[in-house]
Amino acid sequence: KNSTAALGEAQKINYEGINHFDHELAYREQKWLQLENDLRQTNFDEDFFLTYQPKINLETKKLEGMEALVRWRHPQKGLVSPIEFISIAEENGMILSMGEWILDDALKQTRRWIEQTGEPLQVAVNVSPSQLLSANFVDLVISCINRHKLAANNLEIEITEEVMVEDTSLCNQVLSALREKGISIAIDDFGTGYSSLAYLNRFPLSKLKIDRSFVTNIHCNEGNYEIVRTIIALSKSMNLEVVAEGIEAQDELDVLNQLGCQQGQGYLFSKPLEAAEFEKIFIARQKV
Ligand code: C2E
Ligand code: CA
Ligand code: CA
Ligand code: CA
Repeated sequence: KNSTAALGEAQKINYEGINHFDHELAYREQKWLQLENDLRQTNFDEDFFLTYQPKINLETKKLEGMEALVRWRHPQKGLVSPIEFISIAEENGMILSMGEWILDDALKQTRRWIEQTGEPLQVAVNVSPSQLLSANFVDLVISCINRHKLAANNLEIEITEEVMVEDTSLCNQVLSALREKGISIAIDDFGTGYSSLAYLNRFPLSKLKIDRSFVTNIHCNEGNYEIVRTIIALSKSMNLEVVAEGIEAQDELDVLNQLGCQQGQGYLFSKPLEAAEFEKIFIARQKV
C-alpha cells in the first residue's frame, strides 16, 4: 500500500508539474518504483551473487581476507549497483532477508577458501543499520558461523558511523555481544559521517576503515595526507586496527606503508572479483 501511495504522489507531480524539477522528481520516483518492483521478484540464489575484494597486509603483502560486495544481475538492465538497490532494500525491508543470504553465502565461500589455503582468512560483510538493529541479529550471525564450522574471528562486520547515533544503547548491546563472541567490528567510511569521535570510547570496535576519499592522492594532497596520518595515529593510540580502502596507485601505497597502515584494499591490488576468479588469482597460489 506504501508504493501505491507513492505512485499516486508521483502521478500527481507528473500531471501538475510545470517545471523541469517536478518532472525530474517524478521520473526518479518512477524509476525507483520500477526497481523496487523488480527487486521483489528476485530470487537471491539466481539473481544475486557476491564479489570479493582482497584485503592485503601492507607489510607482508599477504592476503588476510576479503570484503564481500553484493551484485544484482537484472534481466533487462544488466548489473545494478548496490548503491542503488541496497537503499531500496533498506526502505522496503528486504535488506533483512537479503542480508541473511549475503552472510550465508559469504561464510560458505570463506569456509572453502580457508580449507584450500590453510590460512585463517577473514571475510568482511557489510551490514546495514536496520539489519544490525533487527531482532535476533546476533543469534543469526552466530548460527551462521556455526553452520559453516568457522571461528568467530573469520568474520568481520563492517558498519557505518550513522548506526551508532541512531540507537545508542541497542547498538552498544549488539556490538558488545558480537565482540564478546570474537567477531571483528570495523567502521566503514571512517571520517565521512557527522558523528562525534566520542563513540570510539563507547563502543567495542576493532578496526577503522579509512574512507577512499581520504586515500585518493595521499602522496600529493597535503590535506588528505594529514587526515590519514591522524587517523592512523588515532587508531594506534586507541588500540584499533586500521585498513585503507580505495588504494589505486603505487604512490598512495608507498605513503600508507610509510605511515604504518596495517591493511589495504583497492584497485591497485584488485577490483572486486567473482568467486571463481578470486579463487584463481588469490587462493590457488596460496594452496597448501
Ligand atoms: P563500501 O562498503 O564502502 O564498498 C567500497 C566500494 O568501493 C565498492 O563499491 C568497491 O567496489 C569500491 N572500490 C573498491 N576499491 C576501489 C578503488 O580502488 N577505487 C574505487 N574507485 N572504488 C573502489 P560497490 O561494490 O559498488 O559497493 C558500493 C556500496 O554498496 C558499498 O560501499 C556498500 O555501502 C554497499 N554494499 C555493497 N555490498 C553490500 C552488501 O553486501 N551489504 C550491504 N549492506 N551493503 C553493501
Ligand atoms: Ca564496506
Ligand atoms: Ca567504505
Ligand atoms: Ca562507501
